[in-house]
Amino acid sequence: MAKKKLTTAAGRPYFENEDSMTAGPRGPVLLQDYYLHEKLAHFNRERIPERIVHAKGTGAFGTFTVTGNITKYTKAKLFSKVGNKCRVLVRFSTVGGEKGSADTERDPRGFAVKFYTEDGNWDLVGNNTPVFFIKDAKKFPDFIHTQKRDPKTNLKSANMIWDYWSLNPESLHQVMILFSDRGTPDGYRFMNGYGSHTFSMYNKKNERVWVKFHFKTMQGNRTLTGPQAEELRGKDPDYAQRDLVESIEKKNFPKWKLMIQVMTDEQAGKFKWNPFDLTKVWPHKDYPLIEAGIMELNEIPSNYFAEVEQAAFAPSNTVNGIGLSPDKMLQGRILAYPDAHRYRLGANYEQIPVNRPITPVHNHQRDGFMAIDGNGGSAPNYYPNSFDDIEADREYREHPMELGSVVADYWDRNKNDNDHYSQAGALFRKVMTDRERANTIANFVASMRGITGPKRKEILIRQLDHFHKADKELAIKVAEGLGIKWPPSKK
Ligand code: NDP
Repeated sequence: MAKKKLTTAAGRPYFENEDSMTAGPRGPVLLQDYYLHEKLAHFNRERIPERIVHAKGTGAFGTFTVTGNITKYTKAKLFSKVGNKCRVLVRFSTVGGEKGSADTERDPRGFAVKFYTEDGNWDLVGNNTPVFFIKDAKKFPDFIHTQKRDPKTNLKSANMIWDYWSLNPESLHQVMILFSDRGTPDGYRFMNGYGSHTFSMYNKKNERVWVKFHFKTMQGNRTLTGPQAEELRGKDPDYAQRDLVESIEKKNFPKWKLMIQVMTDEQAGKFKWNPFDLTKVWPHKDYPLIEAGIMELNEIPSNYFAEVEQAAFAPSNTVNGIGLSPDKMLQGRILAYPDAHRYRLGANYEQIPVNRPITPVHNHQRDGFMAIDGNGGSAPNYYPNSFDDIEADREYREHPMELGSVVADYWDRNKNDNDHYSQAGALFRKVMTDRERANTIANFVASMRGITGPKRKEILIRQLDHFHKADKELAIKVAEGLGIKWPPSKK
């Protein structure tokens, strides 16, 4: 077989790959060795901005197959028939660490799915937990700063983390999950994924329901204890990446069942909590899981940078029949995700092959860095015009959302909006086993021992008070582990 010739990026065959052209056997190097410049200059530009959250990630392609009939809720073409299939890309990640951080950190795991459907791309950009630390995107930069590094020491800081959580009790439910064994899943195959937000679906008659998405692992939930996770951080920082790659290469393809929970407008009006509050779940017994499909991951991308680092998921990518909701975090993410991709990958990031939909794209957006899809050719770049036939089809508009008195006033009056404790307490008391409860307490103690300095006592007491409101036993046990008297004596 004829060998391939080394070329410059412009395609000119080049004669030497390792030794620079010099003015004598010992140098100096000649400027005219332009392949040398190209090689060094390109190398200098290999890194793109790291994702500010979810920097460390792993991706795989696969297939989603519709297994449940949910046409009464959605007119999405994907779900129009049991047996329909589409290709998917999934990116799993940790949240707070840098691109080289360890996979077994105690952290939520990102669980982002891109469905390449005949209606365009549908991105379900969730986590491995059904709730989140905050319910308003305005708080997100503050919250994430506390998960990153101290501005002076450049160290992770238990003070920042617990100061923030204790001042933001809405975080408690997510914090409880995080410090349970599920906060350190055994790789990515043995964990559930959740769309987390409330979304909507509408059917052919444009009747809308509110929806939560759950990906239930078919491998079973498997977790690491705190000490196991800590050991793996040193031994194999890429533990989860390795596990996914090796499993798929051995044709042991992981699968998840996609289930939905459905709530009508009427039920939303009567729900005990705000149904659009990202710190709350919908109890399964009231809103049972309905099967929609099965996702199998069966292909590791052949180039990590091209297809995982450049993958851009955005909750704004919905398809006809699946819509958004008033969830304040979701609304914030609709803005923030595409904005982050424009910064990280450029204005034309949807043209990158891994992001490109399988459907044609027609609009009048043009130019910008890396316009690589022909840029609309000679077609008009303005609207209206007399030359092309691109029209905005009203058929695809979302059914109007009624945010009239029932729902809107209900939120205003809903004192349970500030109930940060019932669901966190239910998880601790009713869902966890004795062993999980003991591990959760130990994990809290280990982390809170890191709080130091003049505000230590204040932060600890404030957080113990939140634990107390969720479950008295929890507060007593954590306080005991920290060597603090609980409840504190009244002066
Ligand atoms: P259920 O008893 O019907 O379901 C409990 C759920 O909790 C299951 O989905 C289970 O996942 C999951 N779970 C078990 N251990 C943990 C953990 N350590 N961290 C997070 N999730 C866990 O309960 P309800 O629906 O009445 O909800 C009770 C509590 O369960 C909630 O307050 C919430 O904390 C938690 N939960 C509820 C979910 C929901 O959508 N209703 C979803 C996830 C958690 P699996 O079945 O895969 O084992």
